[in-house]
Amino acid sequence: MFLPQEVIRKKRDGIFLSAADIQEFINGICDESVSEGQIAALAMAVYFQGMSAEEKKALTVAMRDSGDVLDWRQQDLNGPLLDKHSTGGVGDVVSFMLGPIVAACGGYVPMISGRGLGHTGGTLDKFDSIPGYQTAPDNQLFRDTVKNAGVAIIGQTGRLAPADSRFYATRDISATVESIPLITASILAKKLAEGLDGLVMDVKAGNGAFMPSFEKSKELAQSLVTVGCELGVETTALITDMNET
Ligand code: URA
Repeated sequence: MFLPQEVIRKKRDGIFLSAADIQEFINGICDESVSEGQIAALAMAVYFQGMSAEEKKALTVAMRDSGDVLDWRQQDLNGPLLDKHSTGGVGDVVSFMLGPIVAACGGYVPMISGRGLGHTGGTLDKFDSIPGYQTAPDNQLFRDTVKNAGVAIIGQTGRLAPADSRFYATRDISATVESIPLITASILAKKLAEGLDGLVMDVKAGNGAFMPSFEKSKELAQSLVTVGCELGVETTALITDMNET
């Protein structure tokens, strides 16, 4: 029988979690049999004990598969599905230009963007300020726009990695956002659910960024690249400056 407290105890004591432990915990997050307190306790245990590459992969896959994973085969696209994701910055408007540039070069960009986190600004909030722009289209309009225009930038639906929504909300109120394994799984679960071939991560460093130091940003970039590539999406990362002078 699955007992969430046994999974928490294992991680607290520095014992590796199996893919089955992680899958059951994520199932419990989705069906709400795992409480908010238990999610917070596991997040804190991971914050202090870290996770191996295998554990990070299992967590990413379990969260990705908690909702829809887009399959583009029916669209018969004649180029790769590509995206870039920024870990959050101030005044970061790269997606607005990069999406159309990649589309003009023959790529297809099904970009699902987020809102601001903490002091960072979200791409979606910027799009919502444009009169008439629909950030929550139905699935068909999203697919048709990606096929016809090469790029569509929309908001996260409730069906995309729903386990991450609950996990993230609990991390946000339990001082466990700044955990590299948890950030890795949270970002990649959502990006991998887009059904991508390739991903560029823009990891911000500096005093306007989410991670406190260049070393931590580098560690996060390495973690994202390793887990993304091992899960079959060609992933690269850039560390870009978010310092105020
Ligand atoms: N962005 C996310 O989507 N998840 C995190 O954990 C941090 C930043």
